[in-house]
Amino acid sequence: MSNPLLQDWNTPYGLPPFARIEAAHFAPAFEAALAEHRAELDAIAQQSATPSFENTLAAFDRSGRLLTRLEHLFYTLAASATSPELQAAQRALAAPLAAHGNAVYMHAELFKRVDALHAERQALGLAPEQLRLLERVHLDFVRAGAKLQGESQRRYAQVVERLAELHTLFAQNVLADESGYQLLLQGDEELAGLPDFVRAAARQAAVDRGLGEGVHAITLSRSHIVPFLTFSERRDLREQAWRAWVGRGEKAGETDNRAVAQEILSLRNEQARLHGHACYADYALADTMAGTREAVQGLLTQVWEPAKAAAQAERELLEGMMVSMGHRFELQAWDWRFYAEKVRKARYDLDEAEVKPYFPLDAMVQALFDCAGRLFGLRFVAKPEVAGYHADVKVYEVQSADGAPRGVFLQDNFARATKRSGAWMNALRWQARNEIGAIPVILNNNNFAKGAPGEPTLLSFDDARTLFHEFGHGLHGLLSNVEYERLSGTQVLRDFVELPSQLFEHWMSEPEVLKKHARHYQTGAVIPDALLAKLKAAELFNQGYETVRYTASALVDMAVHSLTDEQGPDITEFEARTMAAYGLPAAIGMNHRLAHFQHLFAGSGYAAGYYVYMWAEVLDADGYEAFVEAGSPFDPQVAQALLNHIYASGNSREPREAYRAFRGRDAVVAPMLRGRGLLPA
Ligand SMILES: [Zn+2]
Repeated sequence: MSNPLLQDWNTPYGLPPFARIEAAHFAPAFEAALAEHRAELDAIAQQSATPSFENTLAAFDRSGRLLTRLEHLFYTLAASATSPELQAAQRALAAPLAAHGNAVYMHAELFKRVDALHAERQALGLAPEQLRLLERVHLDFVRAGAKLQGESQRRYAQVVERLAELHTLFAQNVLADESGYQLLLQGDEELAGLPDFVRAAARQAAVDRGLGEGVHAITLSRSHIVPFLTFSERRDLREQAWRAWVGRGEKAGETDNRAVAQEILSLRNEQARLHGHACYADYALADTMAGTREAVQGLLTQVWEPAKAAAQAERELLEGMMVSMGHRFELQAWDWRFYAEKVRKARYDLDEAEVKPYFPLDAMVQALFDCAGRLFGLRFVAKPEVAGYHADVKVYEVQSADGAPRGVFLQDNFARATKRSGAWMNALRWQARNEIGAIPVILNNNNFAKGAPGEPTLLSFDDARTLFHEFGHGLHGLLSNVEYERLSGTQVLRDFVELPSQLFEHWMSEPEVLKKHARHYQTGAVIPDALLAKLKAAELFNQGYETVRYTASALVDMAVHSLTDEQGPDITEFEARTMAAYGLPAAIGMNHRLAHFQHLFAGSGYAAGYYVYMWAEVLDADGYEAFVEAGSPFDPQVAQALLNHIYASGNSREPREAYRAFRGRDAVVAPMLRGRGLLPA
């Protein structure tokens, strides 16, 4: 009983007693928590009372709390404060945790009760949120295969298992093609145009590969190839590198992904049919806000033509630049980035070093809290006496306008060796009333480079946006106001989850917010309007190109997952035919070609789902328009509606209905197109 993970936590806010926790505590604690959860589920399933919402659904929502508490903590430490011991525990626990997840949703007796309630759900007299929980949990079971019987259940398990193998193989083949390629550069001739940071990275890659003095290597990792295509003056080398990059996964031989993708597509068709759907896209979209292929296709086709038109206008600028440089040939895909950079430099010439002094981290954090206060009445009170899992973690008590504690916010802003890269939000405890009875504990992680000792940390414009983005997710967790844990916070559908985060980014670039908070860290001067205008204009440049590339990949994703043939297609031929039909300009190309499209084939999470980024962007752009229409970025009525229907409602309502309740109508696409500069402002 000396294991702190299994004890009650009598700490401020019931936070984990971080200082007392060791990696070795996790394995025995998980063993106990898994056993406890299994026993709870058996007790629900085997009780003699006839199924009721309370004794089955509410009880299911309350089950596994010890396990959830443990998983939240384990995930938090593994992501933000890892160690070799914790990594070993992660490897050892992956299989038993996955097996447990499977066992929960394949619990036949338990599903029988859920299914029985679901069948008579309209007659049960449930409150809307209870009905939502019942439908949600039922769907969780069904999508995991609980409805399948006998042979089809066995076959389903085989399909899922084979898909997991193929996903891994697909990713490894892409990786092998990337690491198997190098473009060697020697001498000034071959390095022409490359700035110091590209040369340094290329030299480092050469050293990593054991190559001798004076050699530079360009690899196919995105952080190498994109700068190379942007800056290299050697058109012949750009073409070589481009062809290798877009050919990943399509080279005959051991790493050829064409047959792998074909088998994945065949198996997904089978999976969809076992679930009673005609194609995989129908199966995947059934659990999204978009709901149907028509809805997704409708969005993508509305974007496609304006994006192509904007890209055509950009092309004319690039061709003008080519003429002025005396370059007389047809613009090709390996030229676009190079001439776009020349145009960007000539038109905007923005210097990062000029921008950063206006974005000190501390001031931007105050900007977050100020916006949350003005919109939702929240106050963030620093609690330096409360310890997080690392000295850099700042703990805040989040209070309602009346001073009542509403949540706990942990912000962990700096990069370090024990933290994974990127930025994210997660929970140590979700808000819920169903016998949790405690306020939520929500985290934000960023990976900013800490300022030198005694110096402030300065953010780029992009960094500041990331800070606001993650804080938007954080508010979605902190403001949650639901009964049931399964429906709390950000546990919403994948094409809805980025709405609260992307929406919050809009306040970051509001002049009213910038004038107050974006001040030079030495002089206190407000960021100049001219600099701001330059920043925004530079952001819009080349959006036609970027949008065409993204949308092309999203269109092919939808097309290939809409096929109903038992046998998956030859992906190279299918992609060429599909893109020819849409009229993809050859000088632009796609973000991801099918043979290396890892969103689709290295896992199922984004299969028939690459559209979600743009879907959420439609919602956030249209949602922010509500404030523009009201005449103030802090209009109290709009803010109240936003709180009630979006930030507080978690997954307790159908997302389309929640959005309509907030906006009074469905979202329209035009604000997103204007935001990307694809329609006149
Ligand atoms: Zn996000």
